Amino acid sequence: MSDRVGLNIIKTDSKILVSACLAGENCRYDGKNCLNKDIKNLVDTGKAVPVCPEVLGGLPVPRIPSEITVCDGNEKIINRHGEDVTEFFKRGAKKTLEIAKEKKVICAILKSRSPSCGTGEIYDGTFGGKLTKGDGITAIKLKEAGIPVISDEEWLSL
Ligand code: SF4
Repeated sequence: MSDRVGLNIIKTDSKILVSACLAGENCRYDGKNCLNKDIKNLVDTGKAVPVCPEVLGGLPVPRIPSEITVCDGNEKIINRHGEDVTEFFKRGAKKTLEIAKEKKVICAILKSRSPSCGTGEIYDGTFGGKLTKGDGITAIKLKEAGIPVISDEEWLSL
């Protein structure tokens, strides 16, 4: 699928959705960004739409880092202070999907390992730096709507 997505981006004028931190916006939990110049170039040339689901969901910058965990059989997003921030993440995912539909994006390139944007693997909820298989809340929402999602690391390898 990655190759097909990559070719679509190159051959069409369709828009793609990207994590705003990859485009250089200082929206990470620590107030910094994860600039990828190629992705920023997609935004600057009008080919990509930057979004930060966590900011869209109402969380501040900077903010306490969060991870996805399972409590009493339910998946929740808990920040490092032990506060349940699931609703912020769900709201951000919903708003991101609305933007994706409005802009008719053909795919999304999202920041790897984030509890919102991660695809394929995310931190395991222990705040110990360990990874586990899974997707972030926004990545799940987009995939459920049929929008292909690749990570920035997959994008780099295309
Ligand atoms: Fe970047 Fe996504 Fe985290 Fe926002 S929610 S800072 S776009 S990885």
